[in-house]
Amino acid sequence: MDPRNGISRIMEQETVAKKTKISYPAIGKGRYGAVYLGNLHGDNVAVKIFTSKEEASWSREVRIYQTVMLQHENILRFIAADNKDAGTCTELWLITEYHENGSLFNYLSDTTLNQEALFKIAYSICCGLAHLHTEMIGIRGKPAIAHRDIKSNNILVKKDGSCAIGDLGLAVCYYSKSNTIDIPSNERVGTRRYMPPEVIEDTLNMRSFDAFKNADIYSFGLVLWEVLSRSNITGTPDDYAPCFSEMVPHDPSIEEMRRVVVVGKRRPRLKKEWEIHPFISPICKIIRECWSDNNESRLPVLRVKKTLHSLLHSGDMKI
Ligand code: ADP
Ligand code: MG
Ligand code: MG
Repeated sequence: MDPRNGISRIMEQETVAKKTKISYPAIGKGRYGAVYLGNLHGDNVAVKIFTSKEEASWSREVRIYQTVMLQHENILRFIAADNKDAGTCTELWLITEYHENGSLFNYLSDTTLNQEALFKIAYSICCGLAHLHTEMIGIRGKPAIAHRDIKSNNILVKKDGSCAIGDLGLAVCYYSKSNTIDIPSNERVGTRRYMPPEVIEDTLNMRSFDAFKNADIYSFGLVLWEVLSRSNITGTPDDYAPCFSEMVPHDPSIEEMRRVVVVGKRRPRLKKEWEIHPFISPICKIIRECWSDNNESRLPVLRVKKTLHSLLHSGDMKI
């Protein structure tokens, strides 16, 4: 993408951002800045505010959201970007569509899921990830994108119970024509709890874009497990707890994750009753093939999408 296009597009959006009023306190907090509920022409929007120290993260996330053809119902909708003079400092704003159900993490904490709700969440995340991962060739094509921080906090739940993938700040793009990955970064990034073995061990092949996509698939498998853990299909579910809660403390270190995931080869428990249920057991199989130790043997997202789609049909589910 020509960076000048990006900048001029940001300029056009400035007027939109200037008209946005935000309310306090923050509705969400992540690694960078905080997210506020905003009001733009009477509509709710979400405003993620970065400090000027975090400019690189802001401009990276904005640039990814502005990727041609990124728009998809299961990717958080970008509205505008702006920088605001806030007196003593400059605030960098990223405005997106607001989802009152909050993140999947928030949602699963107080909601249990029936079969249709479960499939709607699982299938919609899968569709969003498939859209990200798939390169579209042509003048108005899109690069393949790997997210690199798939987790329940970075997925929003829409009013109709389907999901949108957000927090694209760590994503990387791949262009097959030039066989290039846009930031050949050597750092280990992502959230430790959701890191696949090869990221924990720092052995991910940075030259292979498939390796980045397969790392996303591992994390997606963990998210699917979290979703399954809140289903009421085979009985009353346990309280929501993120994956590996029984095995590592809050904010685990790399070493703590390494002991569990790499050395112990442990994964969250798939319950016996799930394994014998006609619609849940195929999901258990998907999860196992997603969180496999071996980066290369994980399922491609389009394969997961196809399997979930055929399950939806065989179950005559309306989602
Ligand atoms: P960070 O990059 O700092 O992790 P995120 O984009 O993940 O920031 O946002 C942090 C939290 O803010 C999310 O986990 C979610 O709870 C909330 N949030 C983010 N975007 C939205 C949105 N569009 N609608 C509602 N809540 C949101
Ligand atoms: Mg986040
Ligand atoms: Mg982020």
